[in-house]
Amino acid sequence: MTEGVIQYHLDFSPQALADGFLLDELNACRARLFAQGLIGQDDQRYAGLGYGNVSQRVVLPGKPDAFLITGSQTGHLPVLDRQHYALVTACDPAQNQLQAIGETLPSSEAMTHAVIYQTLPQVHAVIHVHSPNLWQNAQQQGLPVTPKTVAYGTPEMAAAVRHILLDNSAMQVGLLAMLGHEDGIVAWGTTLADAEGRLMQLINTTQFQKDTSWFI
Ligand SMILES: [Zn+2]
Repeated sequence: MTEGVIQYHLDFSPQALADGFLLDELNACRARLFAQGLIGQDDQRYAGLGYGNVSQRVVLPGKPDAFLITGSQTGHLPVLDRQHYALVTACDPAQNQLQAIGETLPSSEAMTHAVIYQTLPQVHAVIHVHSPNLWQNAQQQGLPVTPKTVAYGTPEMAAAVRHILLDNSAMQVGLLAMLGHEDGIVAWGTTLADAEGRLMQLINTTQFQKDTSWFI
């Protein structure tokens, strides 16, 4: 399994995204996550491949699961432009197929985002970051996890994420860890601020417990 390479079948039309798609909120969030090293690209990690991605649902007539997502191979950029985003217009996780438009291919992990939007209609934002600290402490923090045997970007990952989402508490928790994808954490929420807030809260809680663990 090669990380960072698109595993799904992509029907892609290369074209600029219409100005009507507002990216400011998504782009600002992505820049904050990059600044914290939760999204990025580092020669010392994951064989130098970019990691992490963010997306936001868009209202598009006849396209109930459409969303904007950061493009593939953009992890090294501190701030993105419109040309670095793709619009996913349709997806079929069971067939491992995705349709998208943009000037950049959608993130190789777009299928995971798609499954979340399809399964939970109230979700409007998904964030995928890489954090060794969060990932190593995920089960201790009570996060649901996808199995170690399930690799990123595969139909099996889509099914494993969907399985977690169908649990009634998934919407409340809003977070999961991918044990088969090193350092992989996913957050979702009714708004982008909601998803980012859950992630920041997890970071704070994990750090607090680490800082105070010597008391116990
Ligand atoms: Zn990842």
